[in-house]
Amino acid sequence: MARYTESVCRICRREGTKLFLKGDRCYGAKCALTKRATVPGEHGQARARKMSEYGTQLREKQKVRKSYGVMEKQFRRYFDKAENMKGVTGENMLQLLERRLDNVVYRLGFGNSRAQARQFILHGHISVNGKKVNIPSYLVDMGDVIAIRERSYDVEQFKAMREGTGKIVPKWLTINAAELSGTVTAMPTKEDIDLTIEEHLIVEFYSR
Ligand code: SF4
Repeated sequence: MARYTESVCRICRREGTKLFLKGDRCYGAKCALTKRATVPGEHGQARARKMSEYGTQLREKQKVRKSYGVMEKQFRRYFDKAENMKGVTGENMLQLLERRLDNVVYRLGFGNSRAQARQFILHGHISVNGKKVNIPSYLVDMGDVIAIRERSYDVEQFKAMREGTGKIVPKWLTINAAELSGTVTAMPTKEDIDLTIEEHLIVEFYSR
């Protein structure tokens, strides 16, 4: 499976915004972007110049894609799917990304980052409606119940993590912290996303 091998903090520095890719560290003074808010590389500071229209669209697309940890091909597939759905393409696309199981596990606070949530899914710790699901890109639907599996190796660890993250669960999900589960009670909207996104730039990028 393709994966990123570069430092995730470099991704934030390149996009010039916090993408919260590293869990707890992202919320403290040790955040690389707080310490050094320049584009990575030898000439990072010098590269802070006005961007072309194409460059702006590309950066927005990369920011969102990397934030959700999705590879280019799959990201493009989300765009194609969103285009064929009823409604506004950009908003449809964000909804599809939010509905990914790895994102939902992260939003519920069962993982410090989407990358960690993805690991838990791949290792078989997550169930949807009582059945093990080990596909991070699985799209949750209304009424789905996402849970840490009872047979998971260390339920206490998940409980401690959930309490430790102190995460605010978005309003489209309902958490049952005692049972380590969450239910999809609505479809996510742009307002539920804690990242400033200009999704029209992504639509423009793929419509060129
Ligand atoms: Fe981004 Fe988190 Fe690294 Fe800060 S600590 S630069 S938010 S990944």
